[in-house]
Amino acid sequence: MGKGGEKDDCPPRAAFKGSPKKRWVVDGVSYDLTPFLAKHPGGPDFLLWSANRDISIAVHTYHKDPERTVLPLLRRYRCEEPPVKSVKRLMGVPQFLLPPRFDAVTDTPSYDWGPGTFLADLVKEMARPAVARAVEAADAAFDRHALILLFMYGVIVSAWLSCVLRPSVAAIALILLRTALAGAGHSFVHRPKSPWGALFDFNYVGHCTTAVDGHALLHHGYTQTEADVKRGFFGGMMGVARAYRVPIHTLHKLGHVVTGCLVRQVDLQLERDAEEHQGVEDLKRALGLGNWAHVGFWAVHVCLRVELYVAWRQGLRWSWLFQFIGSLWLNTLLVVSSHDFDDLGDESERDWAVFQLAETHDMSITGWPRLDCWLSAGLAPHRAHHLLPYQRSAYANIASEPAIRRVCERRGIAWDPPKGLGSEILPVVFRRLFAPACDPATREALYADAVAEHASWRQLAYCVSYVGAGVCGIGSI
Ligand SMILES: [Zn+2]
Repeated sequence: MGKGGEKDDCPPRAAFKGSPKKRWVVDGVSYDLTPFLAKHPGGPDFLLWSANRDISIAVHTYHKDPERTVLPLLRRYRCEEPPVKSVKRLMGVPQFLLPPRFDAVTDTPSYDWGPGTFLADLVKEMARPAVARAVEAADAAFDRHALILLFMYGVIVSAWLSCVLRPSVAAIALILLRTALAGAGHSFVHRPKSPWGALFDFNYVGHCTTAVDGHALLHHGYTQTEADVKRGFFGGMMGVARAYRVPIHTLHKLGHVVTGCLVRQVDLQLERDAEEHQGVEDLKRALGLGNWAHVGFWAVHVCLRVELYVAWRQGLRWSWLFQFIGSLWLNTLLVVSSHDFDDLGDESERDWAVFQLAETHDMSITGWPRLDCWLSAGLAPHRAHHLLPYQRSAYANIASEPAIRRVCERRGIAWDPPKGLGSEILPVVFRRLFAPACDPATREALYADAVAEHASWRQLAYCVSYVGAGVCGIGSI
């Protein structure tokens, strides 16, 4: 039980009725952070989602100066028992998100931390008063602009549904606004205790509840390794024959809009603690930790369905469909563009920040960083975002770039210019989008030739099950 009065704040251990004791592993040492859950400045969710895992990466990268702040505090919660690397073999995530036979104990990478690493140098650069001031001003500007975009979204939707605005103009404006708002949601998902993370779902692609774990913790921590669940984002649709891929994936996502996301959310709120689930809601209820995290989800998703219903009633079906397909595919391609998901990273690299720099690239659309940030769903300043995932906004990532470049220069690491979306990124993404069908998990070819790929019962069955999975809230969220 810790020192300094923790005892009074501790939820009773008996609150974990029927569920085993929780462990959090940091640098090979086990901790029981149960008494700290309600006191974590970032809220209990990040800790509950990562219970029974190795959280070394999150500790070292989601805090500004963990050596001074987090590591000393952790000592209070150390467990006097043999250390383990991870308690849950599947990290508490569904099997379909991980490669076959994945085992967290052997398949999650370990990194070096502390003096001499890129991140240790960057912590010093980021602590300079001028950098800190620039980041703070950038966050404030980002929030103002996000609010303006949200207001514009409300105006455009109202004008469209009341037939004041031409449906084609409204649809194009909505595609751009959904992309920008999803970018805002992306930044908010990285913030502690922010209900605005639900904006992440405005582009019909993601699911904000799973984003805390799937995106902020697992994708950012384990980028481009076998434990990076985002690598599977493109996987399901790759099992569909290339000529059917776009329409079948569109139907799959339509299933998410009609029922799938709601089914998945209810499932998440009810699911128990198990090898393939974290049972976060169950634990929160047991610990009496309060549960407002889903208000944003329901607000955004009710709004999306009311829009669909009213558009249908008003005879605006085609413009709804146009803005749905446009938003879905623009944002899907942007997500897939953010990394080269077919290449696994250099597993021998032990400096986490150097690995992140090699596996991530920035994106340029117009050449104006702040505008590109909205047009790219927040993915334009991507390298800074991956090195500093605790930052509160995409503008802060832009403001941090000079500090990162100084560290790169000192360490002799090249800082490549951003890749052009149209000239460099999309040609590669389109080649991948129309590649022959393959196994969603292993990426091995499934059919001998294009005829077998498009005209087999096996393919027909896969297409039906993929669309059905969307209706049930499975896959690609
Ligand atoms: Zn992110």
